[in-house]
Amino acid sequence: MRVTVVGAGYVGLVTGACLADQGHDVTVVDLDASKVDAVNAGRAPIHEPGLPELLGRVAGKTLRGTTDLAAAVRTSAVTLIAVGTPSRDGAIDLTAVEAASAAIGAALRGSAARVVVVVRSTVVPGTTEGLVRAAIEKSSGLTAGRDFGLGMNPEFLTEGTALEDFQSQDRIVIGAIDAHSFDVLEELYAGFSDVPRILVNPRTAEMIKYASNALLATAISFSNELANLASAVGEVDIVDVMRGVHLSRYLTAQAPAKAGWRAPISAFLEAGCGYGGSCLPKDVKALVAHGRSLGIEMPLLSAVDQTNAGRAPRLLDLVRRHFPELRGERVTVLGLAFKPDTDDVRETPAAPVVRALLDAGAAVTVYDPVAGGSAEPLFGAGRVNVAASLADAVRGASVIVLVTRWPEFAALPELIAGMDPPPLVVDGRRVLDRSRIPRYEGIGR
Ligand code: NAD
Repeated sequence: MRVTVVGAGYVGLVTGACLADQGHDVTVVDLDASKVDAVNAGRAPIHEPGLPELLGRVAGKTLRGTTDLAAAVRTSAVTLIAVGTPSRDGAIDLTAVEAASAAIGAALRGSAARVVVVVRSTVVPGTTEGLVRAAIEKSSGLTAGRDFGLGMNPEFLTEGTALEDFQSQDRIVIGAIDAHSFDVLEELYAGFSDVPRILVNPRTAEMIKYASNALLATAISFSNELANLASAVGEVDIVDVMRGVHLSRYLTAQAPAKAGWRAPISAFLEAGCGYGGSCLPKDVKALVAHGRSLGIEMPLLSAVDQTNAGRAPRLLDLVRRHFPELRGERVTVLGLAFKPDTDDVRETPAAPVVRALLDAGAAVTVYDPVAGGSAEPLFGAGRVNVAASLADAVRGASVIVLVTRWPEFAALPELIAGMDPPPLVVDGRRVLDRSRIPRYEGIGR
């Protein structure tokens, strides 16, 4: 099937490349010519494990990039919209979705082909049937459901495991307003015949995506709120508490063959520095703002957001227990990416930590295995020192704050073993072996 994906970012490129790998004939469209050039050269413009190899297989064969949206849309059976939907003052900013919809509509004007347009971006319930439909109808002069198909098919990938998430999808949610769109989307996913389908209207599909992210964010803030209490009670370690929670039969299989199996939700039921990235923070805020616009208050999700915003001050409190005055102290922050295996720093929990340390007058060094280059755009030229390796980062530090769960940070105890005086290590993810760290503080202890 000929497929166009509008937006060659984390979602659009992964979706396009995976569909191309399935044998579809895919064109990804982006306004950013450098991304298009990278795709055509078989180079990954983002850090995502497995993507370079996948592009090597499909680029120039079943996958190509272009900036010419109209030509791609007119010759495709289906066009997926995968542009960004960032946050603006806490509400969703649909400018890019509207612009892409208008451009798709203009491309369809006068076309006899019955193209199906599908929203893959995360958009608040009602967007596909409202703003997207109106923009396409206005610029095309056509009618949705009759002259072109309209659907919504949310993306559930997690950066860092995006390819695997696509290739072993747990569900395929298809929302559409017409039978032809359902048929075309079923054909698009014919290679995933054993994956459960949820066939609904577009606004339900949109809401499934938000409900899924809101639940994960709630689990994280729930764990972090309890971590705050654990610290205040004293002699309670949140890691022990959550270990006890995870072993509940609701979260852990009891059958002998699977003893110790932890439900994957357990990964969200752990105390840490809070959630970040391009999805959970903006999606929780957008849902609350959308509810408010409809006269529905969402106190639980507002609190989830608020608890998350309190994580950076929490880490700073742990530092200040030992260093009430930080002016001139050398503090190293480990991790800039919002999670391991990605270079994405959007809404990273590391940013408020670094900013607070800079405000306190500390001399800050950051180290991240792949996202170090983002330090300057995030904090300004020369504001922080960017280390080239973990060893360089920790040398001479008085304080080390671990923010991102990169596996290589497990080597920290060895690296600081000979340091005199030993640095204070603040473990924001509870991943380090504290028995090997002389001055240790961890979230939730
Ligand atoms: P992104 O910013 O990485 O990519 C968006 C791309 O769209 C950019 O390359 C931009 O240049 C391009 N673009 C914008 N307007 C365009 C237009 N009119 N024509 C052509 N290209 C245009 O964003 P992303 O992380 O891929 O997210 C895309 C959507 O998917 C968002 O709604 C997001 O919430 C959702 N989502 C993201 C993830 C994730 O982990 N990143 C997971 C699930 C869902």
